[in-house]
Amino acid sequence: MVSAIVLAGGSGSRMGSSTAKQYMELGGVPVVVHALRAFRQAPVVDEIILVVRAEDLEYARRELVERYELTKVKQIVSGGKERFDSVWNGITASGTGKAEDILMIHDGARPFVTEEMIRTSVMTAEKYGACTAAVPAKDTIKVVDKEGFGIDTPDRSTLYQVQTPQTFRRDVILAAHEHFRKEPRPGITDDTMLVEEYLQQRVAMVPGDYRNLKLTTPEDLVVAEALLSCIQNDKTVIGTC
Ligand code: C5P
Repeated sequence: MVSAIVLAGGSGSRMGSSTAKQYMELGGVPVVVHALRAFRQAPVVDEIILVVRAEDLEYARRELVERYELTKVKQIVSGGKERFDSVWNGITASGTGKAEDILMIHDGARPFVTEEMIRTSVMTAEKYGACTAAVPAKDTIKVVDKEGFGIDTPDRSTLYQVQTPQTFRRDVILAAHEHFRKEPRPGITDDTMLVEEYLQQRVAMVPGDYRNLKLTTPEDLVVAEALLSCIQNDKTVIGTC
């Protein structure tokens, strides 16, 4: 069984808007609906669990799932204070409970996840237990000290920017989260890091896409509108748009 946990439980405070970023309109449709449609269309996905803030449960049922006929959404659950709490609520609501179930965790604020990414992620998680969509870093990245001076410049060919979906066998992600809940450590920023830190398990990279951006600040929405018209015109080379 393959479950997609789509996270829309954040407040989106960095967007500077009264509407949370995952519900802002992109091409006339809420951002999260683009992501939900991608998982609905992917034959490999059996169910979607949508995670929203407790106060948005009714809105999500009526204005997202019913309105856009997202029948693959089997449950809408309330999120928690931190992203990890929202993921945990999604994990416990998903799948059949079998160790070999596959769980995909995706940011609802990333509207451009593709079917190819979903399919490759599931195959890779079945093989290695844990994987994430990622793209090679384009910029040179510096490690800086507290005064804002560069202290190291890691070899760029070893650096990847991590995106979602992040995909796991159920036993792997469950063990990592249980460990984290018992013994939280600071500085852990995503689910793949939990697997690396608590289980010492390797996480495979699967090809993401530079267009698979997470809408965080207002300028991201402008870029996303431009990307959407490129994608709708089926122009895969951004330079031609
Ligand atoms: O805040 P950030 O950009 O890291 O959020 C990534 C995704 O996680 C967003 O889709 C957001 O709605 C979701 N989230 C959540 N519950 C939280 C915080 C964030 O579902 N408590």
